Order: sequence, then C-alpha cells, then structure tokens
Amino acid sequence: MVIDHVTPGALLSSTLPDERGRFGEFGGRYVPEGLMAALLELEQTYAVARADAGFRDELRELLRSRVGRPTLLHQVPRFAELLAVPGVRVYLKREDMTHTGAHKINNALGQGLLAKRMGKTRIIAETGAGQHGVAVATVCAMLGMTCVIYMGAHDMHRQASNVMRMTLLGAEVRPVETGSRRLKEAISESVRDWVSNLDTTHYLFGTSAGPAPYPMIVRDLQTVIGRETRLQILKSEGRLPDYLVACVGGGSNAIGLFHPFVDEPEVRLIGVEAAGLGVETGVHAATLNAGSPGEMDGAYSYLLQDDDGQVTPTHSIAAGLDYPGVGPELSYLKDIGRVTYRTATDAVALRGLHALTRTEGIIPALESAHAVGYVLELAERGDLPADSIVVLGLSGRGDKDLAIAAERLAG
Ligand SMILES: *Cc1c(COP(=O)(O)O)cnc(C)c1O
Repeated sequence: MVIDHVTPGALLSSTLPDERGRFGEFGGRYVPEGLMAALLELEQTYAVARADAGFRDELRELLRSRVGRPTLLHQVPRFAELLAVPGVRVYLKREDMTHTGAHKINNALGQGLLAKRMGKTRIIAETGAGQHGVAVATVCAMLGMTCVIYMGAHDMHRQASNVMRMTLLGAEVRPVETGSRRLKEAISESVRDWVSNLDTTHYLFGTSAGPAPYPMIVRDLQTVIGRETRLQILKSEGRLPDYLVACVGGGSNAIGLFHPFVDEPEVRLIGVEAAGLGVETGVHAATLNAGSPGEMDGAYSYLLQDDDGQVTPTHSIAAGLDYPGVGPELSYLKDIGRVTYRTATDAVALRGLHALTRTEGIIPALESAHAVGYVLELAERGDLPADSIVVLGLSGRGDKDLAIAAERLAG
C-alpha cells in the first residue's frame, strides 16, 4: 500500500491554523523575541518542504523502510468478545509496531529531515519519560546529526533504561537540576539552549503543542496514522468506523488519528485523558475535562491551573500523559464540539492493559491502555451500540511499563 504523505490537498478541513498560527482562539506564538525568527524560518521551510515532491518521497521512503509503515490495522475479536455487545468489531491501529515502539518516531523523523533542509547539524529536545528522547536520538543516529536531550534529573532517575538507550544511540543526555527537576524545567533549558545556538540547532518538539508552527507540523507528520487507518478500514469494512478512540497527552497521536476524519460527522472522535486517582480527587492530568484556557509553553490552550493562573501539578500512571497542557487544535475541536473528551483513571488503564494482554497477547503502553480501558467501560455502561465499528489508537507498546504494571497488578 502506498500512502501519500504531507500532501497539501489531502489535508481536508485543514485550513487551520490561520496565518497567525491560530485554531480559533487557540494557539499563537507566545515566545521571547529572540525565538521569533527561528519559528518563522521553520514555518517557511515547512511550507516549501510540504509542497516538494522530493521531500515527501524521502519521508515516505524512510517511513516505509526505517519506521515500518504502514502499521497494521487489524481486528481483535477476543477483546471484542469481552465487551459483550452484539456485532461489535474492534480494530487496533498498531503504532506500537513501529521502530522504537510508539508513534513519536513519525514526528521525530519528519522534523529531522526538516532540520537537515534548514542546514542544521544539531538537534535538541526535551523529554519527560524518555520516549520522545529515544525517538529523537534514534533519528539523529539515522541521519548523522548531533543530539542533545534535556531531561529533569528526577525523571532521569525514574527512567534509567531510556537514558541508557539515548546514550547508547550517541545522544548527550543533560540532567536538569533546577526546580522540580522534571519536564517543565527541561523545556526551559531547551529553549535557553536554542536561543543561543539558532544557527546550528533545531529544537525538535515532541507533541502537537507549543508555539506555532509546531502544532501544525507535528499534526501533519502524525496524520499518517489517520490516513492509513482510513484506507485500511475502507478496505476491510467498506465503510468508515463509528468510533475512533485515542489517549490524549499533548495530543499528537490523537490528532494524527482523528484529523483525516474531522470532516466526517458520522465518525465519533473520542479523546481519553488521564484521570489519575480520579478527576474529583484533583490528582490527575485531565486538562480538557478539568482545565481552562490560558497561556503555557508558547501557546494559548487549555491547561490545568489554579485560581491565580499557576499551573497545577499533575499525576498519571502513564508518564506520557502526565502533562498539564494540551495542543491548541484539540482545544479548538473541544470548543466546536467535534471531539468528545472522556477520562480513564490509573485503575481503568491497568484494567485495559490486562484485558488486552490476556485476550490478544498485545501489551499496550500505559498511555494507550487508557483508551482500551475506556472502551471496556463504555461497553459495560451499555453505551456502545450493537454492530459498532471501533478503532482504537494503540500509540505504543508496554515494554517500558512492565515494572509498574507488574507491581500494580500484583498488588
Ligand atoms: C508520549 C506518548 C503519548 C502521549 O503523547 P501525545 O502527544 O498525546 O500522543 C501517548 N502514548 C505513548 C505510547 C507515548 O509515548
């Protein structure tokens, strides 16, 4: 199957963002003056690359030969049987089967090629759990670029195996010792590095958030997920699905799956956020369910903040969902009512992980397991109609989560 990638005409409703980088009122570019030129250079480079058949061909070929695309879309009949809804068919979109085991490589590879086009030789990125850092370090090794990853010292300790992977791949992992020594401070350090090394360096942002043009670029690079899904489901079912369900952290795997279906009103789009210990406990990361609009990490979007506008701490069993913000396009799609946002607690995610593993022999990432667990609950509540076709975005594989899952499932 040949799937065209980053074809302007294939972007459907994508007249957004507007020329100011806005999705409705969301998005924009709230950055220090020193970064404006770099963001505009990136925007212009991308506008040219996107229309360039040579760029698209190179990206498509690398996605095929080095990432393993197209990824499978297949039914999971034993899991579907658990739902006990007559005629229901569940499909998984298997981003967990990409090289490095999650969707993040789609974006890292595309931005790596853009960086080369801009003549940059050095890539920097920040990482929380280490998944994005591993994808970036992998791409840098593949393309022969220097790689520096900023990571909170606290996170480095928690994610030691990913630190080893990045180091082995040739990246320099720089511990960030300020503040809470987590992702937030790692982002600040990356921005500081970028401002002083604009000539040589591209900041490879990992999700569909941040200042324009990142939300658009990351979305376009992840839309390969939804575009493949569309062709694949039409081939196996002869019609579009009734539900697309994906977990939402910063939002890149969800917007990648949803975007080619945004103009298909009969397809229900459901984003599942991390409810942690329960949204009512305040210990969660359910930004779109419990947050309000504000400015963070260079853009205006929903975020978790207190009455004084201070960003509040988050919790999720899934490190990739443990973020107080969300991308501006997902905020826009909430406000126009096109995407429905629901939640799954840590416990529901663990149930989802266990269920899928035992019925199908597939261990999902804890992030993806939020979407799996949500579908189980939807069916149990009697809210999933008979004969529905459900596509679940399986954003990554669970190898990284084995210790957490084993400990929690034993206890
Ligand atoms: C990082 C990550 C996520 C969350 O990021 P999004 O940008 O919301 O997709 C989800 N699943 C996996 C496996 C991840 O590694």
